[in-house]
Amino acid sequence: MAKFELRGLVKAYGKTKVIHGINLVIPDGEFVVFVGPSGCGKSTTLRMIAGLEEVSGGEIRIGDRVVNEVDPKERNLAMVFQNYAIYPHMTVRQNIAFGLYTSKLSKDEKAKKVEEAGALLGLTPLLDRRPSDLSGGQRQRVAIGRAMVRDPAGFLFDEPLSNLDAQLRAQMRIEIKDLHRRLGTTIAYVTHDQVEAMTMADRIVVMKDGHILQAAPPMEVYDNP
Ligand code: ADP
Ligand code: ADP
Repeated sequence: MAKFELRGLVKAYGKTKVIHGINLVIPDGEFVVFVGPSGCGKSTTLRMIAGLEEVSGGEIRIGDRVVNEVDPKERNLAMVFQNYAIYPHMTVRQNIAFGLYTSKLSKDEKAKKVEEAGALLGLTPLLDRRPSDLSGGQRQRVAIGRAMVRDPAGFLFDEPLSNLDAQLRAQMRIEIKDLHRRLGTTIAYVTHDQVEAMTMADRIVVMKDGHILQAAPPMEVYDNP
């Protein structure tokens, strides 16, 4: 678990600035949801935190470490994106265990971690099934499980529910919020869905045109739009 900090963060593609020097501290354990119109820079910000996009200016800190030049793998963040990539030829158990592929834990310790993640995500009865037997929400949980077993410093979610139907979305909102409560982990979550932001966020960050307009608890944001 760790604090995330953006200091004067800038992103430019060629001469076009798309993130204009944003500042934000996400304290250890906070669940922050980024909202704003399409193209305002939510994904780009998340991808820079993940290390998937280079930073053009300013700093990103995870804990007390500046990570601008740190390889994505070394940042130890769990990433759950819209098009969750789980492997169709592997069982649920194998898919989750894949998160520990490079881990130095013993075989038994790995197996235990997979069982624990499976239990936490309600996947225990499905551990030996293949993804083709699962619903969209269950597949998304497998992707979360694979990220979780690494004991990440924090989670990054980019529109993780947008491919699910309304009923599953509602259920997954509750489950992700519950997961946050149980793990006490830092979460940065991007969505265009106001209900997700309202029901899940400790704090909502409203972006527009590469700037942060507001960063406040849900009630304050929607009382003073
Ligand atoms: P959001 O996630 O809020 O919809 P993005 O972060 O995806 O917004 O995009 C922010 C801006 O950066 C948009 O204007 C988008 O067109 C631009 N952008 C994103 N990726 C690239 C890229 N690889 N090259 C050029 N411009 C990009
Ligand atoms: P999302 O809606 O999920 O944010 P986008 O459709 O904005 O995704 O972008 C999909 C991909 O295209 C991303 O990898 C992004 O970096 C890239 N991209 C977005 N806008 C541009 C752009 N103006 N020029 C080049 N690449 C872009």
